[in-house]
Amino acid sequence: MRQLIAGNWKMNGLGASLAEIESLRDGLAEGAPETDVLICPPASLIARAAAVSGKDIAIGGQDCHAEPSGAFTGDVSAEMLKDAGASYVIVGHSERRQYHGETDTVVAAKVRAAWRAGLKSIICIGETEAQREQGHALAICSSQLQTSIPEGANPQTTAIAYEPVWAIGTGKTPTSAQIVEVHALIREHLMARFAEAGRAMRILYGGSVKPGNAAEILALTDVNGALVGGASLKTADFLPIIRAAAGA
Ligand code: PEP
Repeated sequence: MRQLIAGNWKMNGLGASLAEIESLRDGLAEGAPETDVLICPPASLIARAAAVSGKDIAIGGQDCHAEPSGAFTGDVSAEMLKDAGASYVIVGHSERRQYHGETDTVVAAKVRAAWRAGLKSIICIGETEAQREQGHALAICSSQLQTSIPEGANPQTTAIAYEPVWAIGTGKTPTSAQIVEVHALIREHLMARFAEAGRAMRILYGGSVKPGNAAEILALTDVNGALVGGASLKTADFLPIIRAAAGA
């Protein structure tokens, strides 16, 4: 399966940061990767990022509202992201769940909005540290999968990202065995619900992926890419992760 390496810039980046996208574009042009590459900058940069990203880098949003338009001050709809040049959107990131109270039901509505607008969705799930310590990681992930992924998901419209909350931005990563265990659970869930389409859906790992650990993580069974936060901000870090995927 072709891997997807997605960068989540979170609330980072001004116009000057477009230079990172330009240097990534130029780096990729030196050797076409066998990998799909995505950058999700803040909404304020999407149109300008799409204008400079070139053919090897897709641009995505980090969240969308479920409605196409209306009296929702400060929100951005999936249609608006698409109109600005996005082709993907991340939904259900743990920071959205934690700071904006997004439930699995809200996440599913946002995924349907993404599809309605013609965007591909990356649906994030993952347990907190306390949930893992209590032995609930698999149960939490199962229940998030069940409610966050709407019926009708397919490999063209949907990827899943397993992002243990305790690994995001902390420098801590799960063991390979822990990643494989959760990815196997996700694959089983996808195949039980979507049959062959579930076999072909990409499952990304996210949480402190860096140039130094990318090759090992991306080579694991049922790891079909990565969602990268901090290490996606600089081409010097992000390009080696993309190259590691191409070698996986
Ligand atoms: C993320 O925000 O999705 C993420 C994985 O962040 P980091 O790579 O910085 O842990």
